[in-house]
Amino acid sequence: MDGLSMSVQYVKGVGPKRAVKLRKMGINTVEDLIYFFPRGYEDRRKFNNISNAVNGEKMSFRVSISGRPNVLRPRRNLSILKIPVKDNTGMAYLTWFNQDYLADNFRIGEKLTINGKVKRIANEIQIQNPTYEKEGSSNKKVGRIVPIYSLTDKLTNNEMTLIVNNALKSYISNVKEIFPKSIIDKFNLISVKEAILNIHFPQSREKFLKSRQRLVFEELLTLQLGLFIIKNKTKSNNKGISFERVDELKEFIYKLPFTLTNAQKRVLKEIERDMESYEQMNRLVQGDVGSGKTVIAVLAMFKAWKSGYQSTMMAPTEILATQHFETIKSMLKDYDIRCELLVGSLSQSKKNEILADLKNGNIDILVGTHAIIQDNVKFNRLGLAITDEQHRFGVSQRAVLSQKGLNPDVLVMTATPIPRTLALILYGDLDISIIDELPPGRKIIETYSIGIGMEKRLIEFIKKQIKEGRQAYIVSPLIEESDTLNVKACEELYERFKGEVFKDFEVGLLHGKMKAEEKEEIINEFKDGKVDILVSTTVIEVGVNVPNASIMVIYNAERFGLAQLHQLRGRVGRGEYQSYCILINEGKSKISQERMRIMQKTNDGFKISEKDLELRGPGEFFGTKQHGLPDLKIANLFTDINILKIAQKEAAEILNSDPYLEDAKYKLLKEKIKDMFKGKTDDIIFN
Ligand code: ADP
Ligand code: MG
Repeated sequence: MDGLSMSVQYVKGVGPKRAVKLRKMGINTVEDLIYFFPRGYEDRRKFNNISNAVNGEKMSFRVSISGRPNVLRPRRNLSILKIPVKDNTGMAYLTWFNQDYLADNFRIGEKLTINGKVKRIANEIQIQNPTYEKEGSSNKKVGRIVPIYSLTDKLTNNEMTLIVNNALKSYISNVKEIFPKSIIDKFNLISVKEAILNIHFPQSREKFLKSRQRLVFEELLTLQLGLFIIKNKTKSNNKGISFERVDELKEFIYKLPFTLTNAQKRVLKEIERDMESYEQMNRLVQGDVGSGKTVIAVLAMFKAWKSGYQSTMMAPTEILATQHFETIKSMLKDYDIRCELLVGSLSQSKKNEILADLKNGNIDILVGTHAIIQDNVKFNRLGLAITDEQHRFGVSQRAVLSQKGLNPDVLVMTATPIPRTLALILYGDLDISIIDELPPGRKIIETYSIGIGMEKRLIEFIKKQIKEGRQAYIVSPLIEESDTLNVKACEELYERFKGEVFKDFEVGLLHGKMKAEEKEEIINEFKDGKVDILVSTTVIEVGVNVPNASIMVIYNAERFGLAQLHQLRGRVGRGEYQSYCILINEGKSKISQERMRIMQKTNDGFKISEKDLELRGPGEFFGTKQHGLPDLKIANLFTDINILKIAQKEAAEILNSDPYLEDAKYKLLKEKIKDMFKGKTDDIIFN
């Protein structure tokens, strides 16, 4: 063991209790702790005079204790400790609430440095809940730039600062330089040790910037190398398939129950052109929820079938795959096209039958989940591979799917708008089509944010809508990352609704831990209108299409990301009825208010994701998980585009001369890449 991989529990000041809290934040090892970077900083270097104290601001002062502590008890549960202090310019009170025991910590005349929020009340200056340090103490919380960590679960910033400080003292010497000297010199990087020390405890702004630059570059270069390696592994040098022109497509379109929007027509043309050319198609279709991507996919599969090829469509959940399967089958029912569904929950005999028929070419279209990319799935003549809601898949899964054929055309569909930088990384080689128009007649979904206090009125409203023939989704709160707790919350809500509130209606339950058949059954009942209210976890987030549903209620909406709220909202407003999205917001912070406001103001997915980025603080990153990318600890793909470009160029150059990083000087870098992609790409990297 090199120290860094040791349990965080053994860092001085941690111990078993704090270790549990840290683990909840994903910090298991010493290394995790060292790489848990602050989300911001507070500059406490500047000391002020008491006479210049500004009401409402956090400020630092050098003071001495000038009198005896005094404890006030204005209410039964409230005590206020006041300790008088002074400097050369005036006097003030340090005040603490319900912490009388601190009184014994100070003696008159003692010198302190303090930092706290200034409150001016009448003639009095108070410094509330100050952080303080006695003269000569070594733990510097005042008088320097202090880190602010994103913390949960009752771990205070002071505790965290102390712990990180201890970890750095004992273990920083174990951090290894992963870059060869050539890279360090070329980009004039500061050493990794110095960078890490300064990212936690910056000596100066300049040092901080250099440190951040170094760490961002390291992260992005690692990421980019990994992605390029995956790409190179799966890149084909061969020509693709040239599909025939299919005039029957016109007839097919004519027979649809609706007319294609202009945007759909344009995108279809782009796809047809790609499919007919000899180049392999690599196209991303991006369109907001409800813009009608599925029919485009069906048209492309129809075209492939006409040319005698098989196609496949992969969706992220069984629910969605099943639904696509039904839609596709019904759209193609007038043709002699065999369409099958492959999902994990099928019986082994049904699976075997499908696998055999797929291999001998008796199946034309295979819809399914990840089950499709298993090794034992062999196509006869795969010509077109489609992934729906691509953002849910890992980068390598797309690659694996297309390897199921000999350079099949690839179509990727997503509702998540992708910022330019991310598109560059993820789909460097992909053409993009955008469906920027919703089918006509869609009513804007009316969105409201309410407090839980209005639940009664909401329930009346839901009842009224159901009596008018509509249906409702109710999404239960998201509880941290725990599936079990999420399911529990969902079940509780369901019990309450079924047993009391909505006992005169049909209430259904849907969550990820249910068996596939159960899920399918409940979804079908909801589709058929047998269930009025579907209480669900976020498993309904993608793709589910029930046009009669007009209400989406989301409990604890403040716990969801904006993009996710938008996806959920997209489950309603899919038919002719005026639809409503009700966000129950229990978040008190300004940011959660602002997020609710955005959801109420706009229905435009692209604007929403832009706002989402804006609202997240620096250092935080927007949903790499959503795109199947590894988590980034420091780089921000939105704002670090310049460093990204440099890293991309360097990565390309490195791989040009050494495609698999076999040179010994890349040994540590290579390990870092493997580490970053661990669990993401399974065996694609370096195998
Ligand atoms: P998404 O882009 O979110 O995957 P879908 O393909 O599920 O959207 O389409 C949403 C709904 O809109 C479906 O019920 C579909 O039949 C319908 N639809 C698609 N295109 C049109 C159109 N041009 N006119 C009217 N309705 C359409
Ligand atoms: Mg869809």
